Amino acid sequence: MADKRQLNDEEKKRVLEKYGRRCFVDGEPIADEEPIEFHHIKPFSRGGPTNLNNIAPVCKKHHLTIGTMSLQEYRDKLELEKFFEGDPKYLDDVIQSKKGHCGAEFKYEIRDNLIKMYFKDAQPEYPFYECPTTGWKYFYATLPVEYIANDKELQPRALRQPSMWNLYRHFQMNTQLAPSICRIDDNGKLFLFDGQHKAAAQIWAGHSKIECKVYLNHDDRRLKETNLEAHGPFRQMSFYSHELMKKYADIFGEDWAEYMETEGEKSELGFFNFLMHSKKKTRAKARNEIALAMYNEMIDDPANKLSGYLSEKHRGRKQPLTFARLKKSFFDQMLVPPPVKDEFESDADHRKDEKGNLVGLMNIIAEEGLEGRWNPERNDSTHRKAERIFSAGAVRAWAVLLKDAINTHLRHYTDDERRRFFYRNVDNDEFNYFRQFVQKIFSHQIWDDPDPSGEIVARLARDDATTAKSLFEEKGLIVQWVLGGY
Ligand SMILES: [Zn+2]
Repeated sequence: MADKRQLNDEEKKRVLEKYGRRCFVDGEPIADEEPIEFHHIKPFSRGGPTNLNNIAPVCKKHHLTIGTMSLQEYRDKLELEKFFEGDPKYLDDVIQSKKGHCGAEFKYEIRDNLIKMYFKDAQPEYPFYECPTTGWKYFYATLPVEYIANDKELQPRALRQPSMWNLYRHFQMNTQLAPSICRIDDNGKLFLFDGQHKAAAQIWAGHSKIECKVYLNHDDRRLKETNLEAHGPFRQMSFYSHELMKKYADIFGEDWAEYMETEGEKSELGFFNFLMHSKKKTRAKARNEIALAMYNEMIDDPANKLSGYLSEKHRGRKQPLTFARLKKSFFDQMLVPPPVKDEFESDADHRKDEKGNLVGLMNIIAEEGLEGRWNPERNDSTHRKAERIFSAGAVRAWAVLLKDAINTHLRHYTDDERRRFFYRNVDNDEFNYFRQFVQKIFSHQIWDDPDPSGEIVARLARDDATTAKSLFEEKGLIVQWVLGGY
């Protein structure tokens, strides 16, 4: 029995009698027409036996995504994903979710070389040590977690789900080598400022106490400096906080977590190479997936006024734009194609600026071309003009025209400059020019010209890169005209 992987029909029947027709992962019923998979609770690959105590029913969807995890781990993982939904989470949130409260105050007493702590259920004593360099006093203790609070002053960063998850798995088989580090203030409050992910992982796993090193009578300012310096070389472990990083984590899940735990500097190029070499994705697939994360981040930005005009966001209503059209015009034209080599969140990394710039430009487009204009129900001349402006070929042609006008205005001549025109900090003065260019393009006669044969409308609607463009040229809607007078 020990070396086989499959159950026979009789054994499967008995597993179902034990658990019912429910998926072990989330407890949801499995529909009669849906197949049932049988999964090891502790994985076969890690010595889990194939017997009735170690097998449970799982639905098809969860069976496909469970990988090498045990059922227990997979359940915990889904629970953790749920916990991380919404606002950023801190150590306090983890303690509160397990204990109902955190940061409880307590009394302590110092006698000779000992500290005595008065917790509700225990009064442990620990010996003091003194740092030979700074003279700071500290002790080692096993602390009840409800007395611990996150140190917002020394350690303001939110928890990262991948780090917490990897440590959670790690501690299922390994011991904790170094303790988390806390300080104790004069009011008897404990603040944890280093090792928050390992603390969070163990509290999540149900530990009611964790091992800590605790400083007393420290110099706050120097402790803060020391802590910042200590984290310098390990910045990638927890410093990445852009929305885009969260988007990557959402979209790439385990792959992103795995990449984040690799050695060395982290960048889009590094992740691209990781997807190709470790995950065996093709160049095109790796590039497209990274690009898609960027596009989604921009569309999901609540500040983006153009998103409201996407048909994908308002099914059933007639909308001027689709995701595909936005991709072919704005995203393909105005973003530096991934992967860029700049280290994430370093001074050289301008993805955040680039996103802000493009959302700014999209807002100008929405304000000048659609707001108060687009109205299919009314279908007046103002709406019909907007319809022409936002027809498939027209959008593609004027997006290029706008980009060329901006680059010419900025005196960008090399291909590299023209490609990276938004990959930098752009100030408000420049945006005032961009708005004037947009207004000028949208004021051209081409959008109002009489069209008895329907030829103009047809040529603007043609979804390719050249038909609308050649019409623009015939009608004089070109860079020189857009820039004339500025
Ligand atoms: Zn399931």
